[in-house]
Amino acid sequence: MRTSWRDLAIGFLVFSVFVTFTSIIFINFERLRLGNAAILRSGAESLWSTHEIEIELLRLLKAMHRFQAPDPGVDLEALRLRLDILWSRLPPLLEGRDAAQLREASDVETLGARLSAALQEISDILDAPSVDAAAYARAMAGLEAFATPIRELSLVALHQTSQGHAELQRRLDDIYTAILMASCGLGLGTLGLITLLVFQLGRSQKLLDLKERANAQIEHLAHHDVLTGLPNRRLFNDRLAQSLAAAARRSSGVGLHFIDVDNFKAINDTFGHMAGDQVLQEAARRMAATMREVDTLARIAGDEFAAIQIDVATADGVVELSERLIRAFEQPFDVAGNDLQASISIGSTLFPDDGRTTERLLSNADVALHRAKQNGRRQGALFDEVMMEKEARRRRLGVRLEQAREHGELSIRYQPKFATADGRLMGFEALIRWDRSPHVEVSPTEFIPIAESNGSIVPIGDWVLWTACRDLAGSAARHRPDVTLAINLSPVQIQKEDCFRRFLKIVESLDFDPRRLEFEITETSLFNADTSTLANIRDLHDVGARICLDDFGTGYSSLSHLQALPLNSMKLDRGFVARLDDHRTQCICEGITALGHRLGLEIVGEGAETEWQYNELVRMGCDQVQGYYLGRPMPIEELDGFMARLARAPA
Ligand code: C2E
Ligand code: CA
Ligand code: CA
Repeated sequence: MRTSWRDLAIGFLVFSVFVTFTSIIFINFERLRLGNAAILRSGAESLWSTHEIEIELLRLLKAMHRFQAPDPGVDLEALRLRLDILWSRLPPLLEGRDAAQLREASDVETLGARLSAALQEISDILDAPSVDAAAYARAMAGLEAFATPIRELSLVALHQTSQGHAELQRRLDDIYTAILMASCGLGLGTLGLITLLVFQLGRSQKLLDLKERANAQIEHLAHHDVLTGLPNRRLFNDRLAQSLAAAARRSSGVGLHFIDVDNFKAINDTFGHMAGDQVLQEAARRMAATMREVDTLARIAGDEFAAIQIDVATADGVVELSERLIRAFEQPFDVAGNDLQASISIGSTLFPDDGRTTERLLSNADVALHRAKQNGRRQGALFDEVMMEKEARRRRLGVRLEQAREHGELSIRYQPKFATADGRLMGFEALIRWDRSPHVEVSPTEFIPIAESNGSIVPIGDWVLWTACRDLAGSAARHRPDVTLAINLSPVQIQKEDCFRRFLKIVESLDFDPRRLEFEITETSLFNADTSTLANIRDLHDVGARICLDDFGTGYSSLSHLQALPLNSMKLDRGFVARLDDHRTQCICEGITALGHRLGLEIVGEGAETEWQYNELVRMGCDQVQGYYLGRPMPIEELDGFMARLARAPA
């Protein structure tokens, strides 16, 4: 639209310049033409005829004198010719275009008539068979008398002509001035238009520049992350495709790295989002400084980065960059005056060795990153085939797990716990089982993490609670209505805001006393605990359920949790129990037990497989013990018989 306006203005300008100049040329031309025509018409005709008559009169008189002499040079014939010529000059004077003007100034008509009569008289004399000399002399004298009036007439004509010229000149001057002014006006108008157009062009150029700059900015924003200024996922995808294509042409390699800031959520929750942003910016800066200009570092999601390393020949080169990036985090981050220790996990893969398509490489890097995190974070992992197979199995299981519940492949085993003081049965821990087929069992240590990563742990967890409450309400109630039911909770479950409400609904729907419930949570779930996790734990505790800290001493132990949370008991991890013959492990276990007791917690020793282990746990002061030695996890059908046997033979 704007362009068409400009085109219109230019068109108009060109048109007006054209009109101006053609007008000036045309007007000047017209002025000349008119001037000439006017000069021709302004009395010149009368002047010419009076002048002619004057000359011709003199010539005739001269010829008449010579004829009278006589002069052989002038005969009758020649005399007649002169007479006719003078006669022929009379009509233009009397009837010409200027005659009227001349007639006004003098009595031309009378003079003409008299002259004509005089000429007629001479003609008659000459026509006679013999010329009458006296009449001839008289006529000649009469003709001579005309010389003065004709001279006077000639002067009048001359005067009139020069007056007409002066008048004409004045009028022409007026026209010329008018034309000059009109030309100046047109010229000024054109100049104004040109200035306007130049100004307009300048302005639209400025607008165009502004637009270009805005477009460039929009373009930059579309391809870059605002916080760190790094390329975003879109640009990263483009660069990766380009890098792979170029590497394929040059037969070189490309390293792809997925980078994840470890426990970023905890940093955010503990220090606030501003601090989190600062960490991301500083992380981006440090990593970018570690890499070459030709390589690409991108921020592809919240705390996830990715790096494209071009022209890398071997896996060693890939690992080398990965290690350099990890080392870039050795120095603590200065966030609002606090020293903060951040770290990253990296998953790397190499083109073309590990895969040739972008999809394949992205998936490889993802698998490798997952492995690095599983291995305990703050490290890199390079993709390999074994990893790939494990990942493929993970994915297959993930898909199967979605339907496992509907297909009735999930079940629950119950493992008893006993009090060390009197050997009394205290409760059962519900442990999930997945029998994919009659002979293939998938361990919960394998499928629970999968369920956690794809979210299916939430419906599965609800199902476990519902099934276990229903089972224990029926079977156990007949013998021991007071035994407790321990349910394992995954961090993903307790993070859900509505976790408590859903659990309460399930328990109430089965009329199960919540005070008989015990929820086992791992330390790891508390490490990144957000407000909903803490609220859920408090709400469960408030309705009378017991809270047990599972696998104590294996994860990121933070004693502050022991202080801040409403805990009832603590489980000594079975890994410790398995190594109780080791002196140092013994010391650790004694320490944990003492600490727990000082905090008013019950200590449960799990994984007691032998009598010796059981006795050791009792000696250390464990309040309860659980393990194959005392009872294996069993299906609900066996629970009745198990409890009946216990009733018959008390420990
Ligand atoms: P956990 O909570 O530490 O459960 C105890 C594990 O130790 C169970 O393994 C149990 O069978 C095993 N165990 C018990 N006594 C002994 C013993 O004397 N020796 C040995 N070697 N092992 C013993 P399981 O059933 O394979 O479960 C593994 C883990 O899977 C559990 O560890 C728990 O973290 C998780 N899990 C099991 N069921 C559920 C569930 O319903 N929900 C959630 N979120 N996690 C579950
Ligand atoms: Ca447990
Ligand atoms: Ca445990």
